Parts: sequence; structure tokens; C-alpha cells
Amino acid sequence: MKPLLSEELLRELNAGFETEHPREIVRWALEGSGLERVSLASAFQAEGTAVMHMASQIRPGVGVLFLDTGFHFEETLAHKERIAELLGVSVADVRGEHTPASQAAAFGERLYESDPEKCCDVNKVKPMLEALRALDCWVTAYRRDSSPTRANAAFVSCYELEPGKSIVKVNPMAAWRREDTLRYLEEHGLPLNPLYEIGYASIGCAPCSRVRFHGENEREGRWAGLSKWECGIQQIGEREAKA
Ligand code: SF4
Repeated sequence: MKPLLSEELLRELNAGFETEHPREIVRWALEGSGLERVSLASAFQAEGTAVMHMASQIRPGVGVLFLDTGFHFEETLAHKERIAELLGVSVADVRGEHTPASQAAAFGERLYESDPEKCCDVNKVKPMLEALRALDCWVTAYRRDSSPTRANAAFVSCYELEPGKSIVKVNPMAAWRREDTLRYLEEHGLPLNPLYEIGYASIGCAPCSRVRFHGENEREGRWAGLSKWECGIQQIGEREAKA
């Protein structure tokens, strides 16, 4: 199957984007790439809010995929509504086949404790795979320094989502640090999920997120005590392009 972008073009883009503002990388995804079906994906954390702001300035009403697992904090859901209204983005809630109640009936209570891989597969990986099938390109808010698993993230990669289906992933925030994001949000008067104020550094599902303790990596509060760093959606079928 022919990939959507050639290896040569990926190398050029990734080299050039090292010195670009994330806004210009978002602009390339939405306007310069020639890819038709482009959507953002966000959990409405700090970086995602910045990317949504940049994208909404370029394409008003831009689409955003939100994985509505059924296990989010109330604060996150309220923040999502507030940001969606403020920026005018079109949020699509992506859900799996189970509600928390039907999941408990099928697999037992607290699947996120007994088998978090299965829980993420049911509530995140499978539904996101289904949503990505309809796209040519998705834009995330990955930062390289947010966890060891993200240290080598390319700005643009192209990979086989599944046999016969190629997709492009764009990480405009790859080279920014948290302080860059916070400065951007402040400059543009954009609010944060209030959970940051009480010590959360990375905010996902409530049962699998806790505050960060002094000296910890940004994502150590996610699946604390487990060797799990990622839910798996960023790794669906991925072969990162070598920059
Ligand atoms: S992050 Fe936790 S609650 Fe959310 S889908 Fe994964 S295991 Fe389940």
C-alpha cells in the first residue's frame, strides 16, 4: 500500500519543523498537507488546549476527537465544555461499546485495577481506532519531554493504522516544554483544567491519575505503581518515521 507521505517528504518536514512554532505545524496539517480528513484529538489538557486554540484560528469549527471513557473527572468534563464553547471547536465524543456499568457486568468491578490494559483497550484503543479509520490525519498534543515513551516523537509520521489503511500523525507540540505551553495559554487568556492547581501534572481517567509528587516525571501520576506509561492509542499500528 502506498503511504500518504513519502519517506523523503517526512524527513524534510521533520527537519524543518524543529525550528517552527507549533502554530505553523498545525497550519501545515490543516492547509499545507493536502490531506482532506484531518481532526485533532484531545483530552483537554494544557497542550491540547493550546493546539485547539491554534487550529481554531486557522480553521474555525475544527473537529476534535475526545475519548469519553466514562471515567473522566467531573472537572475535566466541565473544562471540556468551557473550552469547546470558548474556541468554537466541534467536539466528537468517542465512546467504546461499554458504559462503566456494562463494563463492570462484563468484566467485573474496577477493571482499571484488575486489568488496566484491557480497560484501556475497551475504552480507548478500540474506539479511537474506529474513529481514526475515517481520517487521513490526526493532530495530537504530545510533548517529547513529558515521558520517556515520547522522547523520540516525530513532528510528522505516516504509518499503517491497520493493513490497507495509511494515516498521518502530527505532533505540533513535540519540542515544547510545559512552561512554553503555560506561557502560550496565559498570553491568550486560556483557562486550564482546575485539577492542575491542586497538583495534577497529567490528567486522564480519574481512577488512573493522581497528583504528581516532588521529583516525579510529568506522567508518573498516571497508572501510578505500574510499568504502564501509555493507554495505547498513540501506538496503534505505529511505525514512527525516522526524522
Ligand atoms: S486510563 Fe484507566 S480508567 Fe481509563 S480506560 Fe485506561 S485503565 Fe480504564
